[in-house]
Amino acid sequence: MATFIVLLGPPGVGKGTQAKILADQTHLAHISSGDLFRENLKNQTELGKLAQTYMGRGELVPDDVTIGMIRERLARPDCEAGAILDGFPRTAAQADALANMLKEIGGEVKSVPYITAPESILVERLSGRWTCRANGHVFHEKNNPPKQSLVCDFDGSELYQRDDDRSETVVRRIQVYLEQTAPLIAYYRERGKLMEISGARPIAHVTRELLAVLKK
Ligand code: AMP
Repeated sequence: MATFIVLLGPPGVGKGTQAKILADQTHLAHISSGDLFRENLKNQTELGKLAQTYMGRGELVPDDVTIGMIRERLARPDCEAGAILDGFPRTAAQADALANMLKEIGGEVKSVPYITAPESILVERLSGRWTCRANGHVFHEKNNPPKQSLVCDFDGSELYQRDDDRSETVVRRIQVYLEQTAPLIAYYRERGKLMEISGARPIAHVTRELLAVLKK
C-alpha cells in the first residue's frame, strides 16, 4: 500500500524544509500545496490568479479548488509509492477528501508528524525567510543563511522574500492556522496517526527525530 505522510504544524515551523529532506531520504514524492499555487501564479494560470487573491491576504484558497489541484497531483506517476504532504490538508474537509482520494488510489495516511514551536519563533522564522524562485528551497537570514547572499545553494536561482512573509500577513496566517487547521490535530489524534515533535530546534535535530518516528 502506498505510504502518505502528512506534515502538520503552523506556518514557519519548518514543514517545507523538513519535507524536502524527508522526500530525498525516503524517495517519496514531495507535495507542497503552497509551492503548487506559487508555480501556477508564476505561470499566470487561472488557478494561480485565483489563488493569489487569497494567498496575498494570508487566507486559505477554497477547499474545492485546493482539493482539485491535489487530486491531479496525486495522479502523477511519482506518487505511486506515496508522498510527503506539506501544507495539505489544512481543513477538516480537505482531510476527509484526502482519505477518500487515497482510498481510490490504494494508499493511506500512515502517520502525521505534528511539528510545534512557540508563536514568537514562527514570526521570527517567517519574517527572516528567503525562498528560491526555481524550486522553493528555503533559507533564513540568521538560522540557515545561503552560502552566497540571495543565491540558492542548491540550484543557483535567485532568493526572494514571499509577499505573504511580511509581518502583517504572517500574523493573519497564524490566526487562520489556529482557526481552520489546528482542529486537524484532534482529527488525526483520534485516528491514532498523530506524533508530536518539537520544531524549536536546529534543522538536523528535527530531521533525526522525524526519521526516528517514521520508522516506528
Ligand atoms: P504555504 O506555502 O504552505 O505557507 O502556503 C501559502 C499559501 O497558499 C497559504 O497561506 C494559502 O493561501 C495557500 N494554501 C496552501 N495550501 C493550502 C491548502 N491546503 N488549503 C488552502 N490554501 C492553501
